[in-house]
Amino acid sequence: MGLISENTLKLALENQVNKGDRLGDILIREHLVEEHEFLRVLSLQLGIPRMQIRKEFLDTELSMKCNEKFLRNNYIIPAFKSEGILTCVMADPLNSQLIDTMISMFGCEVEVAIASKTEIMATIDQIFSTTKLAGDLSKMGFDDNPVDTILMLDEVKTTKDENVIVSILNFILSDAIKDGASDIHIEPRPTLLVVRNRIDGILYRKTDLPKHIAPLLLSRIKAICGLDVAQKRHPQDGKIVSRIRGREIDMRVGTYPAEYGENVTIRILDRQAVLVDLDKLGFNPVHKKKFEEVLTYPSGMILVTGPTGSGKTTTLYSAINHLRAMNKKIITIEDPVEYTMPGITQAQFNVASGISYETFLKAMMRQDPDVIMVGEIRDSTAAEVTVQAALTGHKVFSTFHTEDTTGALLRLMDMGIETFLISSTVICVIAQRLIRKNCPNCLETYIPPAETLNYFKVREIDFERHKFYRGRGCHACRNTGYRGRIGIFEVLTLNDTIRDAILMRKTSSEIRRLARSTVGILSMMEDGFYKSLKGVSTLEEVLRVIYNAESETWAGRTADEIIRACEGLESAEEMSEKSQSANIPAPQPAKPVVIKPVAKPVAQSAPIEIKSAEPAKVDTAVNKEQKSDTTGKKKEEKSSSLWFSGLDVDIKL
Ligand SMILES: [Zn+2]
Repeated sequence: MGLISENTLKLALENQVNKGDRLGDILIREHLVEEHEFLRVLSLQLGIPRMQIRKEFLDTELSMKCNEKFLRNNYIIPAFKSEGILTCVMADPLNSQLIDTMISMFGCEVEVAIASKTEIMATIDQIFSTTKLAGDLSKMGFDDNPVDTILMLDEVKTTKDENVIVSILNFILSDAIKDGASDIHIEPRPTLLVVRNRIDGILYRKTDLPKHIAPLLLSRIKAICGLDVAQKRHPQDGKIVSRIRGREIDMRVGTYPAEYGENVTIRILDRQAVLVDLDKLGFNPVHKKKFEEVLTYPSGMILVTGPTGSGKTTTLYSAINHLRAMNKKIITIEDPVEYTMPGITQAQFNVASGISYETFLKAMMRQDPDVIMVGEIRDSTAAEVTVQAALTGHKVFSTFHTEDTTGALLRLMDMGIETFLISSTVICVIAQRLIRKNCPNCLETYIPPAETLNYFKVREIDFERHKFYRGRGCHACRNTGYRGRIGIFEVLTLNDTIRDAILMRKTSSEIRRLARSTVGILSMMEDGFYKSLKGVSTLEEVLRVIYNAESETWAGRTADEIIRACEGLESAEEMSEKSQSANIPAPQPAKPVVIKPVAKPVAQSAPIEIKSAEPAKVDTAVNKEQKSDTTGKKKEEKSSSLWFSGLDVDIKL
């Protein structure tokens, strides 16, 4: 199975022969393999569901029918019964004798799921202790049900037989919300049903369930959404409205008929999570100042660009929410309307309505809006209408799917929009990605490997002063080291030089070079590098979301220059350099960025040149870091936790 060496396996096998123990027990007892890892492999090889057991969805009456000691000795829990099949959670799913005992005890078919001995014992403890305590607790006025009750506003009556399914679905939904998941995936496989949650953009396997549950669970979900329960061949869309801890949470449900049965994807739309302050999107001080400034302009087009799932909608909603306070008529066209905001006219574009996107947009313009938001510019007609709106004194927001800011300008040209219209309407383009934030609970400093650093093309890094952080992994972050997400941005505000370049149909890289030399544009890589230095995330995480890391043609900045550029603390000399280059006539080639020598390091060691960093040099840096005095370290970590306190909101899509 690739987890243990041949030698350790041999040792364990000898042990098995001598002592008559089971192989799995030996491997786990001798710490040759982690228990959860062993279960994962076993479940994979045998096709048995690896189930997360929760007292809340177990039918405890079934356990009550058995002797507690019997359950403990055999590491087994009769979990629930549905369709005449009893699901038993066992630590050893190959014990056929025990399975036969359960069959004769309950007089029905038995299906097996696997869980660890530790999990089973803990659950047996819960089942029997709560039963004993239940009476006392209710006398004391305590609620003995710790699970969030999901109250379906659109409640569907259930029979007693369906209670098991209701509990399982409640467990799936409430746990996903508790974990901050954005999507739940329910996927039938050949022998089992898999539930996976997407958290901070990455899928995690939550639990497996017995395959025979699948049709019942699906029917229940469909019934709640008001979908056709009998329809299993066509994809369907629906919505669940639920209330959890006084918060309304909408869920969009989609079914997809697949080979092993219908798949269900549930997108969780948590309204409170999306309406974030501009402050909390993760703009660095310079980007924030630029963005707030363009928001005050009465007209013009603001474009947000990036791939699907890069947080564009969140940025737009936050901007709109910011403008809402200014007595403006704000009107939107979205597909679909993800979150409703009070005081704003939101419309959903629907292909099925038979009305074209263009007609919809034109009707929107007749509503006398001040600010319009077009969810996405889909084609050249939509582009023309939106550009026209910006030209006639409206403020227009929209999104694109391009890699970077200049790519969005080029896309508008490709859509046949005249360059003079682009240069006179677009005021700002924002490119963005979402990166996972370091878990503040288990933050530690580390030296990133030289090959990772090389991608960032940062000219000088002094590891004495420039610290990098990562999450070590703890209970709070489910051992991932990350918790929540934040944006990294590139903000391009258009000046005369860039407008001229658009008029002259310059290439994307030429426009980028001009943006660098005139407004000192910061790339997403640099913004990510800055956030890594602030302890917000890791360099590895930045590279995970940026694919064309090596495409920049300009000279790299030093770490100190990046910090200054992000915090707006550039030296006067650099500022004048900028204003000089801004006066250069457009056709001339851009001046290379002037690189300042780094400030004198605090420690007496020379700054390390990253490009030439040999492994040996990085090693000395590690030693230096270990030797550095603890007071300095503490100070660093304190400042990074301050940064966290201001940004402690998860960005959802
Ligand atoms: Zn952690």
